[in-house]
Amino acid sequence: MALLEIRPNCENCGKALPNGSDHAMICSFECTFCDQCVHEILHNVCPNCGGGFVPRPVRPSALLEKYPPGTVPHIAPVDMTKFAKLLEKNRNIPPNER
Ligand SMILES: [Zn+2]
Ligand SMILES: [Zn+2]
Repeated sequence: MALLEIRPNCENCGKALPNGSDHAMICSFECTFCDQCVHEILHNVCPNCGGGFVPRPVRPSALLEKYPPGTVPHIAPVDMTKFAKLLEKNRNIPPNER
């Protein structure tokens, strides 16, 4: 069984996104951003893969000991100059048509 890592931070702004956070969003590769960055900066385009985002599922508390959430911060603020092309190409196309 492949597990989500449940990464602890927004990759762009560093905001804490612990398991259970209402603000965590992921793409199909589990690139992880806060909802504010996804809506206001990324416009639902993942800067790494071009895909869209969905809210990250919550791992049930009874399983956290056996399957602990990730603890290693993965923070790589988006280079808006590099991202501009990918954003323009995808922002007006629904994720299931990209
Ligand atoms: Zn963020
Ligand atoms: Zn991605």
